Amino acid sequence: MEQELEKLRSDASAELERVSSSSQLEEFRIKYLGRNGQLSGLMKQLGAAAKEDRPRLGKLANSVRGDLEQIFTQKSAALAQQKDSTERPDLSLPGRRRVKGSLHPVTQCMEEICEIFASMGFSISEGPDIELDYYNFEALNIPEHHPARDMHDTFYIGDSVLLRTHTSPMQARIMEDKQPPIRVIAPGKVYRCDSDITHTPMFQQVEGFLVDRNISFADLKGVLTVSLQKIFEKDLAVRFRPSFFPFTEPSAEVDIACVICSGDGCRVCKKTGWIEILGSGMIDPEVFKMVNYDPEVYSGFAFGLGVERIAMLKYGIDDIRLYYENDLRFLSQF
Ligand SMILES: [Zn+2]
Repeated sequence: MEQELEKLRSDASAELERVSSSSQLEEFRIKYLGRNGQLSGLMKQLGAAAKEDRPRLGKLANSVRGDLEQIFTQKSAALAQQKDSTERPDLSLPGRRRVKGSLHPVTQCMEEICEIFASMGFSISEGPDIELDYYNFEALNIPEHHPARDMHDTFYIGDSVLLRTHTSPMQARIMEDKQPPIRVIAPGKVYRCDSDITHTPMFQQVEGFLVDRNISFADLKGVLTVSLQKIFEKDLAVRFRPSFFPFTEPSAEVDIACVICSGDGCRVCKKTGWIEILGSGMIDPEVFKMVNYDPEVYSGFAFGLGVERIAMLKYGIDDIRLYYENDLRFLSQF
């Protein structure tokens, strides 16, 4: 009996050493200390021992129980502490930062352009992306079968409905509605069936126009020169080249001195020192007649610029498609 009790004490201590989880600890408790456990079993046999041995054996059994309960409690506390340290958050770790979004480079550029023209007294007007053939072409002096329609690779939705190919339809829409003086820019998305390193099927344009009495080409040159210098934050040279657009007469392509090489000639400006930046011109009298303005009384100018192209030059981006690939490595740089 004595030996059995001592054996139980050493077996149980050895087994408790190997316990490493709370479920193993519970198994241990049931096996040795439970109501039907090994210790209880031995204690029940005490009654069968010789009368003179009983007090000694009882004392020994109680001391074994006391020892086992003590090491059980220690083990239980140790396991609880271990669990605590693996599960409790480490307050010394740096916090997880929330990723901050930023405006798309084209949006940023568009907002800057709008602010610059707003500071010059232009109001901002947005029109529908889905446009009538009438406003997109006819009201701008581009009748059906006019060769200029070939310059616009148009997405047609129906016979007379299309995705606007420029934001110029706003010219006709606004002039139909209001009397001069008018100073408006129309920013927005436009669509053409075209895609390569410098073209995307959807891009952003800012159309602007100004109509009043006695507006001359000098006004056009002044407004565009100042606004381009503000957009590029540089006192850069601006040059006007004769061109053709059906809705302006005379028309001019506007170039700026290359923002990369300042006119010395580089890959971006194809060694010319100049970069074509926008189209402009004096509004054609035919366009005024469509909206019942008297071309003898009023004159005005219009211009249209591509926002992606300006953002490319401002930020040094060489492939327009990067804007629309949704690659965060690219977008997060702005
Ligand atoms: Zn250059």
